[in-house]
Amino acid sequence: MIIAIPSETHSGETRTPLTPEAAAQLKALGAMVTVQAGLGLGAGFSDASYAQAGAVLTADREGLLRSGDLVLRVRKPAMEEVSWLKRGSIHISLLDPFQEKELVRKIADAGVSAISMEFIPRTTRAQKMDALSSQANLAGYEAAILAARYANKIFPMLTTAAGTLLPAKVFVLGVGVAGLQAIATAKRLGARVTAYDTRPVVEEQVKSLGAQFLKIDLGETGQTQDGYARALTEAQVLIQREAMKKICADSDVVIAAAQVFGRRAPVLITAEMLDAMKPGSVVVDLAVETGGNVEGVAYDRVRDRYGVKIVGLANLPCRVPRHASQVYAANLVALIETFWDPPTQTFVLRRDDDILRGCLVTHGGQIVNEKLLAGSP
Ligand code: NAD
Repeated sequence: MIIAIPSETHSGETRTPLTPEAAAQLKALGAMVTVQAGLGLGAGFSDASYAQAGAVLTADREGLLRSGDLVLRVRKPAMEEVSWLKRGSIHISLLDPFQEKELVRKIADAGVSAISMEFIPRTTRAQKMDALSSQANLAGYEAAILAARYANKIFPMLTTAAGTLLPAKVFVLGVGVAGLQAIATAKRLGARVTAYDTRPVVEEQVKSLGAQFLKIDLGETGQTQDGYARALTEAQVLIQREAMKKICADSDVVIAAAQVFGRRAPVLITAEMLDAMKPGSVVVDLAVETGGNVEGVAYDRVRDRYGVKIVGLANLPCRVPRHASQVYAANLVALIETFWDPPTQTFVLRRDDDILRGCLVTHGGQIVNEKLLAGSP
């Protein structure tokens, strides 16, 4: 089986789907690994290190994609490259399937079986393949680091001969994987952290990190069977905003990471709340790629709004590409190893398996994913 890995072409993408270490792991399964020359440069991996791991390097991108039985990427394929994929081949990447209906249709028509890494089920067995978590974790870290960089004060308490500097107050909104890591990182830097999430189970996790949990009574909020938050009603959003007004005004840093899977992010920090914040404070909007939690956030930019910095930088894992690639590649290798059939040395699409049932989007010319067909997560 030929496993082909083209370089990423999306502007600003620094990650690679395969590290040299992961290439060696796939070689050890008995696969032939072909990579595009320059594949890992953005993440700090030289061509020589892939060759050393046993990969074949080529500069011929089209030839590479035409030859792959299994194609690995970080991001979705470009529309114009879908026709290069071999009929019957398997394509594994983040695919953003809810927003990319036309692309998914095209992949199905090309007879390619696409696996969407966003759809890996959130189960214990699939944890090591969970790319959303591996990347969100690094995004959360990076959000706290960015907040510290843009703040006009330091995070830890410092007692010096020149007086005492009080710890920064950080409020984390939305405590999924990214939010938890943002809390942990801000705590390690010495900040005093408070957090809020609509899922009540999060309170315990927040407290176990030494942070405080803000209580807001929104009535029934619930979560999906995959553990995702449900969208709030308009009335609930109003109550939540009102309850967060004071803590936002009082915080030096707000890190917003509230998301509802498969939907636009809820706007939870309004202009009125920003008006009440102190000049010099910072708001990092981790949800900017799905529309943002913060009113007026500028995509991939840092905005100064009457002295409050709104950080809308996108693709935060791309700022730590070496580690982001390492964990993403580990997710892919775990997936491939799980469905690898040693006697035939092939990746077998076992459609009765719950992991593949969850993440396989197209197969045999059809869109086969239940969530996608139903139109909601
Ligand atoms: P996500 O990125 O979809 O959302 C981030 C957070 O925003 C969530 O915690 C959500 O509850 C919260 N949120 C949504 N609306 C909000 C609002 N109005 N106000 C405040 N917060 C709001 O989440 P994620 O990081 O992908 O994680 C989703 C869930 O999956 C979590 O329960 C996580 O623990 C779970 N998970 C499980 C596994 C596993 O079991 N293998 C792996 C990873 C994540």
